[in-house]
Parts: sequence; structure tokens; C-alpha cells
Amino acid sequence: MVSDKGLLIVLSGPSGVGKGTVRKAVFDHQETNFKYSISMTTRQKREGERDGIDYFFKSHEEFEALIAQDKFIEYAEYVGNYYGTPVDYVKDTIADGHDVFLEIEVEGAKQVREKFPDALFIFLAPPTLAQLEERLIGRGTDSQEVINHRIKEAKRELSLMNLYDYVVINDDVDTARQKIQCIVEASHLERSRV
Ligand code: 5GP
Repeated sequence: MVSDKGLLIVLSGPSGVGKGTVRKAVFDHQETNFKYSISMTTRQKREGERDGIDYFFKSHEEFEALIAQDKFIEYAEYVGNYYGTPVDYVKDTIADGHDVFLEIEVEGAKQVREKFPDALFIFLAPPTLAQLEERLIGRGTDSQEVINHRIKEAKRELSLMNLYDYVVINDDVDTARQKIQCIVEASHLERSRV
């Protein structure tokens, strides 16, 4: 039976690996119907980020009220802040037949796996840990303390990449983009045969 529901695609990978860049490349090239689920977070807005585009920026109290109202598919605390995926947007968009892309860390991905076992899980990995550290320092958006915390998290996340259906190494944005598109297409074909 061919499902007319969209596919839920989870993209994880350590901070600094380039998830946002690769995701944007996928969206720029896509001829399909991907939608990106904008997350909510309590982290401070970085320079250049816009509310409702990069994230929905919330206070700690607002976020906890949304947790209490069961408004998240998943949420996690990461380096001192909450991050979460809004349930209504994802369910409605998948039901409309669009593929929905989530860009989330590993703990959140585990929660999605429990609720949406049919989702597609892709982990984006750096060629080396040293390159990841260089990128985190080089982008200059965080304090040394936050960078150290993110590097510690990155090591933990890298140790969990075996939980994913696919691992894509980001040594070149366009190659990573092509691989992700192939994985998504193959996954659609597989599902259409079930
Ligand atoms: P950043 O602060 O660098 O924007 O994001 C930190 C980490 O949180 C990244 O790994 C990012 O993918 C992840 N993240 C972003 N949104 C969500 C979300 O809705 N849920 C979870 N669990 N992680 C998220």
C-alpha cells in the first residue's frame, strides 16, 4: 500500500558539524516537498538569528508551560538550555503529505524513535574530531566555556551514532547533500513497496 503521508527525517550530529548548512543545501536543491520544523529553544538568540525562522525563542517559563501542555514531540536539555520540536506542526505537515526535516540532538532523536518508529534517522559526522573543534572555535559564536561543553557533548554524540539508520560524513557539503537526498529517495521507494 502506498502511504500518502510524508516522511519524518531526523538529522542529528554534533554541534559545529554543519547540519544547518547541509540542510539548507538539501532545501535549495530539492525538487520534492520537504518542510523544516522550526524548533523552540530557551537559548539566547545569536547575532543574525531571527525569531520564527531559525528558532522560536522562548523563556524558560514559557518552555516549561509548553512541556506541561504536551506540546512537544520531543525535547531535551542541551548545554544548559531547552530545545524542543513542536508536535502540532510536525503531525499536521506529515498528514498533509510533506516530508518533515528535524535537526535535533541525540537525546531528542531517541524520543522521536520511540514515537515515530518509521522515521528516517541520519547522523552527520565530522571527518575528524579535531576538525570539529576547529570549527566550533572558529565560528566565534560561543564563549570558551560553552565551546568546551559543546566539545564534550560532541564526543558523547559521536559515541551514539550507531543508533542511526545512516551515517553521512560531512567532508564536503555538496557530497553530503547528495547522499542525504539519495537516502531519502531510497527510503521513499522502500516504503512505497510495503
Ligand atoms: P544550537 O544551539 O547550536 O542552535 O543547537 C544545539 C543543538 O541542539 C544542536 O545539536 C541542534 O541540532 C539541537 N537542536 C535544535 N533544535 C532541537 C530540538 O528541537 N530538539 C532537540 N532535541 N535538539 C535540538
